[in-house]
Parts: sequence; C-alpha cells; structure tokens
Amino acid sequence: MINMETSQPQKITLKADGTLDVPETPIIPFIEGDGIGRDIWPATRLVLDKAIDAAYGGRRRIEWLELLVGEKGFHETGEWLSEEALATIQDHVVAIKGPMTTPIGTGIRSLNVAIRQKLDLYACVRPVRYIHPVPSPMKSPEKIDMVVFRENTEDLYAGIEWQAGSDEARKVIDFLNSQMGTELSAMTGIGIKPISEKNTKRLVAMAIAYAIEQGRSSVTLMHKGNIMKFTEGAFSRWGYEAAREQFPGQTLTEAELYDKHGGQRPEGKVVIKDRIADMLFQQVLLRPDEFDVIATPNLNGDYISDALAAQVGGLGMAPGANIGDTCAVFEATHGTAPKYAGLDKVNPSSLILSGAMMLDHMGWKEAADKVRAALQATVKDGIVTYDLARQIQGAKEVKCSAFAKAITEHL
Ligand code: NAD
Repeated sequence: MINMETSQPQKITLKADGTLDVPETPIIPFIEGDGIGRDIWPATRLVLDKAIDAAYGGRRRIEWLELLVGEKGFHETGEWLSEEALATIQDHVVAIKGPMTTPIGTGIRSLNVAIRQKLDLYACVRPVRYIHPVPSPMKSPEKIDMVVFRENTEDLYAGIEWQAGSDEARKVIDFLNSQMGTELSAMTGIGIKPISEKNTKRLVAMAIAYAIEQGRSSVTLMHKGNIMKFTEGAFSRWGYEAAREQFPGQTLTEAELYDKHGGQRPEGKVVIKDRIADMLFQQVLLRPDEFDVIATPNLNGDYISDALAAQVGGLGMAPGANIGDTCAVFEATHGTAPKYAGLDKVNPSSLILSGAMMLDHMGWKEAADKVRAALQATVKDGIVTYDLARQIQGAKEVKCSAFAKAITEHL
C-alpha cells in the first residue's frame, strides 16, 4: 500500500555542484508515447510505483505529471511538442517517455531528436546486459555487460546536408572545388560531419565520471580516426585529453597500464583505451568481457548500441536515457510498433528497465535494484510476452499487463 502521508509533491532541483536534490515525493513528468505507449506505460508505472513502495515502505513515492506530447498532444492541443512541455521537462530535471511517432509533413524531423536537441541532452546512454534465459545469438551472452555513451548532438546527425543537384549543394561543391582543391562531380550529395572539442570532452567526461562512480574498469573510445582523422581521430584525442585534464588521479591509459603496472589495473582506477570502430564490432563479439563503458560519436553509437542490444536478445529488452547537464529523459529504445498498439501484447521491459535507470539517476538505487531483480526473476520463471515466448521453450506467454503484474509479485 502506498502511504499517502509522504511529504508534499515537490520538484527535483539541481544543486550548485550539478547533482540532484530529490525530495521524498518528486514530481516526475511522463509522456505516455504513441502506439504501444498506451500498453507499456501503464505496465511500467505499476512496476515502478510498487518497487518504490517495496523499497521504502511508503516513505517515498513519485507524483506523476502527464505531458501531452506526440499524437495525444496533437489531438488534444493541436501541437506535437509544445514549448510548454519542453519547459516542464527542463523545470522538473528528470522525465520519462514512451516511443513516439515521427509526424509526417510537419517540418519536424523526429520528436525524439527535437527533445534531445532542444534540451541539450548530449549523451544517449544505453546499458546492455544479458538477462537469463532470453535467447541470444552469442555463445556466452552472460559476458556482456557494457554501457554505451553515444554523443547525441553532432556528427552526421546534425542534419547539415544538401541533396545532389540542389542550389546549396552546387554552392558548396563550387567552393570546395575552386578553393579547397577537391574534384567533386556536380551531382554529388553533401553531408557535413561536425565533431567539436567541447561536445566530445563533455560526453567523454560524463562516461568517465559514470565509470568511476559505478566502479567500472575501463572506458573505450570507439572511433574511425584512422580514416576520418580530424573528426573521429580528434574525438579520440580529445577523449584522452578529457581524462588527463579532468580525472588525472582516477584514470590511466592502456599504454600506462602495461608500461607502469605490468597490465594489472591499480585498484579503483579506470583504464582509458581506444579502438577503431570496425575492430570493436569484432571484439564485442569475440571478447565481450574486455569492454565495459564505451564512449563514441553519434553514428558509431547508433550502430553499436543496436548491435549490442541484439547480442543480448533484442531491442524489446534494452533501456536507454538521454542525459544533459541540467536534465535527463529516460526512454524505451524501440519505436511505436503501431500494429500492436492497444492489444496489451508487447514487451514492456525496455521502458521498465529505463525506469530503473531513472531511479538510479535519482539515487533511489534500492528501488532500481528491486525492479531489475524482479524483472529478471519473472523472465527466469518463464513468464514472458509473445516476443520472447516464441523463442523460449516451455515459456508461458502472458499479456503486457500480466507480465508487469507478475513482476510486482517478485517485489
Ligand atoms: P518499432 O520498434 O516500432 O517496431 C518494429 C517491430 O519491432 C514491431 O513490429 C515489433 O515486431 C517489434 N517490437 C518493437 N517494440 C516491441 C516491444 N516492446 N515488444 C515486442 N516487440 C516489439 O520500429 P518501426 O516500425 O521502425 O517504427 C515505428 C514508429 O516508431 C515510427 O514512427 C518511428 O519513427 C518510431 N520510432 C520511435 C522511436 C522512439 O520514440 N524512440 C524509436 C524508433 C522508431
């Protein structure tokens, strides 16, 4: 039972040092999401509320505040993503969202991208960990325990591109051919890949701070700097600089590990290493236990996070968060799966585990651990939604809401 005598609902605030001040009853905005959002959000909310109650005996609870964004927003207010909704997220510091449709013909590329850019949520954080006995293509999936920090604001995703044959593309090509010595043909599409020192260093610093806080052993800078020297190569160089400048006593490079410590990691230190992107794709398959936290530019991050999710059983189980210096939005990593919307059928694990990340972020670790343990125990019992039931022999297929209820019975 939730004790209604918990303190008055209040906003989470930021302290001067950038950490969170979380009241006993924080107000947390949520966006239900489109499509299967209406199925997975109620399931998630039930599990989070019960886990908090189980962990803190009614002393703490979340006061949920619905934001009308996406299709629901458009139908009720005429706006897909209002300035007011963005300001509310900013003002409440922490929020959670279901998947959202990309509106067609509105000039908005994607609501998800708009939220990340407008709130400067510069890191997309994706933990990838195996849950037994989810079917995996790996021989030893239990060796996978990695967290990807993907840069969220620049790289080829900045949207600076021009179609072949357009006036803009022609102008850029004229400039490059006449002034910069290139020989591009007229019908060439152009995309720009900006990678900056400032945005690289803040992303890598966040990954290192996380590794230190969580007692992780290494941060790998994933890049393709052998080919793209001044963008991806610079990412790696600036990443090492960020470690040296901001965490001198807590980090060491892989070279120092072997030169000065005979390959034995000194207690509590985080090893900073780098790997070329294509090689890392091989190594996470062949030697997954050698990698821990991975920091990488936007495009590599997109690829590696989905590939790693597949290695542990697919996107339906993969949680995610978009984090900046002043606020964070936790989200399911899959889309709206419209053909299943409202059928109470799909797997809510991605959003539930994103909720557990949110509880970690708030410092409510006991509740977060309970969510993960209860979800794991439910899957281990063979109680799963259709997507896993068809792959696990002897499993019992249950609806989305029944899966959530089964989780709460383990709390
Ligand atoms: P999708 O992830 O919505 O669905 C692809 C397929 O994956 C589904 O048909 C279903 O078989 C399976 N699936 C997805 N989530 C599942 C779950 N929780 N449980 C079980 N099975 C699940 O991808 P899509 O079809 O490419 O995209 C549909 C819409 O979602 C598009 O409008 C797209 O823009 C949007 N989208 C949103 C996000 C986001 O909000 N972060 C991410 C990706 C796509």
